[in-house]
Amino acid sequence: SISQHLAELDASNFKVTRSTTLRDVPLPGSPEELSHSHCTDHMVTVRWTDTNGWETPEVKPYQNLSIPPTASCLHYATECFEGMKVYRGYDGKLRLFRPDCNGQRLSNSAQRSSLPVFKFDQLKKLVAKLMQIDGPRWLPNPGTFLYIRPTMIGNGPHLGVQVPKEALLFVIAVPWPDISSKGLRLYASTPDTIRAWPGGFGYAKLGANYGPSLQAHGQAKAMGFDQILWLFGEDRQVTEAGASNFFIIWRDASGKLELVTAPLENQLILPGVTRRSVLELVSERLSTQSVGSLEPLKVVERTLTIAEIEKAAEEGRIVESFVSGTAYFITPVAMIRNVNTDISTLGPNGESAGYTTLIKSWLEHIMFGKEQHEWGYVI
Ligand code: PMP
Repeated sequence: SISQHLAELDASNFKVTRSTTLRDVPLPGSPEELSHSHCTDHMVTVRWTDTNGWETPEVKPYQNLSIPPTASCLHYATECFEGMKVYRGYDGKLRLFRPDCNGQRLSNSAQRSSLPVFKFDQLKKLVAKLMQIDGPRWLPNPGTFLYIRPTMIGNGPHLGVQVPKEALLFVIAVPWPDISSKGLRLYASTPDTIRAWPGGFGYAKLGANYGPSLQAHGQAKAMGFDQILWLFGEDRQVTEAGASNFFIIWRDASGKLELVTAPLENQLILPGVTRRSVLELVSERLSTQSVGSLEPLKVVERTLTIAEIEKAAEEGRIVESFVSGTAYFITPVAMIRNVNTDISTLGPNGESAGYTTLIKSWLEHIMFGKEQHEWGYVI
């Protein structure tokens, strides 16, 4: 038998081509920054073929891609991506937040869409290389961040429906406005639009999950809502909200405080890095002891339905609700519209108790190096 030796993705070696014409860095809040399209001076690309495996990664000037009109990604959605941020710490250092989680998830997503897998710890090295070059000019100020978008596409020229024979992994970085943290208004999806289903790919970060969700998102926006809260099944299970995971803090029937979010086992939701971090921090710091005036929270990952949330609201048991994600970070939820019912997810006096703010500050301290923590990967 012939054993094929395909090269592994190896980010210890790079071909570097420096840009000679540097791009303008958008001012915070400027139209360029708000456009989400003004990338930094360089990008990383790595080619893969089914004959050689991964080639040497390249850092090169940010530029358009050239792909054949027959490219697999354009027809069969052989595409997956990640969303990360690079943070300029208050100590002047650049950090990624748990980048191996993103590396693992990108490799899982690639597998689900027949794209090549790789050793997950290589992704952070690709990002680090890009940021060593672009970080000084594009991220000079402590307390700020850039958004990083690692992406993989099937870019081979074969129009036949088949597993991609060629792929391109690229990493770009883009200034990103801070998303306002006012209370979100969520619109619960109706049974005619389902984001993910058992046996599908809701757990993977595939472009194919997002394009088809934009119709509902656009309609909700036009009605004055911020995001879709994706419900699933006859019992209208609450899964996740837009590009973020959903959490609710309430008192159970016996009066015990719980932090509840949808489970991962049924593979309906994206396993958010922020979600995981919230669950781990709350378990560690707030499940057995109070913090200031905040009572302990029991961490619960389980199926929850919109009817349960509605009932909790009627009985005055909701304390707070928030979403978590790289782009949305930790953002409070003010209300949910389900069919014709508006459910307030704020506490009894229309206020939040302070859990959301506390959890957000824990994460911020790690991201910006105010707390030295193993989740902060210094570049
Ligand atoms: N759900 C979906 C559908 C998302 O796109 C995202 C953003 N990646 C999240 C949840 C949150 O994941 P993370 O915390 O890793 O950004």
